[in-house]
Amino acid sequence: MATKAATTDHLFPTTIAGSLPKPSWLAEPNKLWAPWRLQGDELAAAKDDATLLAVKVQEDAGIDIVSDGEQSRQHFVHGFLEVVEGIDFAKKVEMGIRNDRYKAMCPTVTGELKLRSRVHAREARLARAHTKKELKFTLPGPMTIVDTIADAHYGDRVKMAMAFAGLLNQEARGLAADGVDVIQFDEPAFNVYMEQAAGWGIEALHRAMEGVDAKSAVHICYGYGIKANIDWKATLGAEWRQYEKFFPALARSKIDQVSIECIHSHVPMSVLKLLDGKEVQIGVIDVATDKIETPEEVAGVISAVAEHVAKEKIIPSTNCGMAPMRRDVAEKKLNALGAGAALARKKFA
Ligand code: ZN
Repeated sequence: MATKAATTDHLFPTTIAGSLPKPSWLAEPNKLWAPWRLQGDELAAAKDDATLLAVKVQEDAGIDIVSDGEQSRQHFVHGFLEVVEGIDFAKKVEMGIRNDRYKAMCPTVTGELKLRSRVHAREARLARAHTKKELKFTLPGPMTIVDTIADAHYGDRVKMAMAFAGLLNQEARGLAADGVDVIQFDEPAFNVYMEQAAGWGIEALHRAMEGVDAKSAVHICYGYGIKANIDWKATLGAEWRQYEKFFPALARSKIDQVSIECIHSHVPMSVLKLLDGKEVQIGVIDVATDKIETPEEVAGVISAVAEHVAKEKIIPSTNCGMAPMRRDVAEKKLNALGAGAALARKKFA
């Protein structure tokens, strides 16, 4: 078993939601679902190189809990599904996903689900071998997966979610053995199906983390800065209270950390009180704009959150993944995150 990193002991350890933009030699830039530029062994080697670069830019920016930048996967859900048996990728069905916010052509589950192999072993081991920082890996959450795939086998969403949770559990156990410290499930669907999130959504996460020797986190955001999401946010009113509906259930859950968006979001900060006892990854970097935050702005968000969350539980992060951003912008934003957290540490010292 690989050795894990020692937990960061200073206040406000920083992390990122997960993804970073890919270099233009790996995939077409500024795009979700960007096609790869290479194939076969060349692609595998290029993914390795990009993973090392992603770790390096995070370290240089002063990020404490680093990720692989999701450089080896094309999409946060489909990167996982690619290695799952029982899915027919040729049988695409148009689905209105996230409660019909966008239409997507989704593959279909046609048989018993099984993992064909490990999913992220290569990049996890590579990242672990090249950083002494805490290492975080992201996986799609069961509820978000079943919202992104058609079902012609299980006939029941919850049953299918639990089947996926079993596969996620296998991969999570593998990642922990590879030396990964934090395993984060991305569940944007929690903000759409709030009642189910509080029930079987959390149960499925518990199944996914059963017996896994790592910290667990769940990322629940309002989506990337793409048009469909920006339009949806405009319909949510002055105060976004979606979190309120399932935070009490999350506070009672076994999940260690909750990752949420804060900066420029209409989530009332007082809602964070409902997560009492949990570590909270707070988004202090906006991924929907290219404008670079100043360290003072970042420290300001941290201070505002500290009025509602114990400061020992605050982990400054990005609002969401940075995959579709410009690379130079993302790097500047990482620097602002590191510098802003350092500034906040001084204020609270
Ligand atoms: Zn997100």
